Amino acid sequence: MDLSYILNHLGEERETYRGAVSPPIFQSSIFAFPTVAAFRAAFRDELRHTTYTRGNNPTVEILRRKIAALEGAEDCLMFGSGAAAIAAGVLASVGAGDHVVCVHKPYSWTRTLLRDLLARFGVTHTFVDGTEVANFEHALTPATRLIVLESPNSMTFEMQDLAAVARLARARGIRTLCDNSYASPLNQSPLALGIDLVAHSATKYLNGHSDVVAGALCGSAAIIREVFRGPYMTCGAILSPHDAWLMIRGLRTLPLRMQRIAASTERVLAFLQGHPRVARVYYPQAAANPQFALAQAQLRGASGLLTLELRADDIAAVERFCDALTRFLMTVSWGGYESLAFPVAAVHPAEAPLRPPGALPLTLVRLSIGLEEPEVLIADLDRAFAAM
Ligand SMILES: *Cc1c(COP(=O)(O)O)cnc(C)c1O
Repeated sequence: MDLSYILNHLGEERETYRGAVSPPIFQSSIFAFPTVAAFRAAFRDELRHTTYTRGNNPTVEILRRKIAALEGAEDCLMFGSGAAAIAAGVLASVGAGDHVVCVHKPYSWTRTLLRDLLARFGVTHTFVDGTEVANFEHALTPATRLIVLESPNSMTFEMQDLAAVARLARARGIRTLCDNSYASPLNQSPLALGIDLVAHSATKYLNGHSDVVAGALCGSAAIIREVFRGPYMTCGAILSPHDAWLMIRGLRTLPLRMQRIAASTERVLAFLQGHPRVARVYYPQAAANPQFALAQAQLRGASGLLTLELRADDIAAVERFCDALTRFLMTVSWGGYESLAFPVAAVHPAEAPLRPPGALPLTLVRLSIGLEEPEVLIADLDRAFAAM
């Protein structure tokens, strides 16, 4: 299946909605049946039929089919956030007494899920530096049921050798889940490397327009059915039909956005590298990345999220840099059409639990490169450096 077929046509049964090129928003909570027999058949398989929108909805199903195809998955479930997708994948995979191994700098709420929420229900965990495969092996216990990966992660872009970790896990009957938000399905296919579940914050590149919070979870039909019967239906963190429709629209330009973002990021990176105010640039494809070889082998292309370590005398200089930016909007999140800046220093010390461990320097500023002309972004950064 080619990419444009997936994005422009897959799942869209235009003949059933009078040829409409853009699919309808099935803004209905319930779907009625003409006979008891038809009702019974739908009830028996709520994942495949449309009975109630907490289970399935035709607009959401179009999106599920497209994202499953992009990930090379048999099936996909959409959620109201990336955090919900990750939580559902984890909740479906473990129970009291089980143990989870997770990379030590995952997305902050993935860490909180394991450390604070699941710990209350008797699920134990070990956080490991995922840059060495042996660290996973050493952390396993007879109770380990799940390994949670995020490659690259979204602040310092550490990677895991996904094929090697998947081999290790499969040999022991341990399930693996990988957060693939950074790479997007275009640049990395964890399922093809042997990973069992792929999660996305679809809020980021998949939607790409900073107007929807959404999550996706992809895997085999059997595991997705297990997730559906478990946390999907019981916790009910679904994506609304309207948000699914916005996502279908956002997704149509994913390849174009990613191409533009990768090209602009290369230009911005060239400006930043060697700049006297930049102590270090974190980026998978940066030549100085200690995992550069793995990035070349495992990623098909580049993303637009990178982190600068500023050469600043104090935090006030970091603040002056960020406050001077006019084209980069200062906020959380990433992956939209617009460029963003996220200073680690904005996280209040009282919120330290949200900050990644290993005491990240407060001089880090993460940039998400958007669709602007790269010269405009470089000029903005240049102005901000001058204001330091
Ligand atoms: C944003 C993000 C999440 C959480 O997704 P939400 O859609 O905000 O719930 C998970 N993982 C990564 C890497 C993220 O950047």
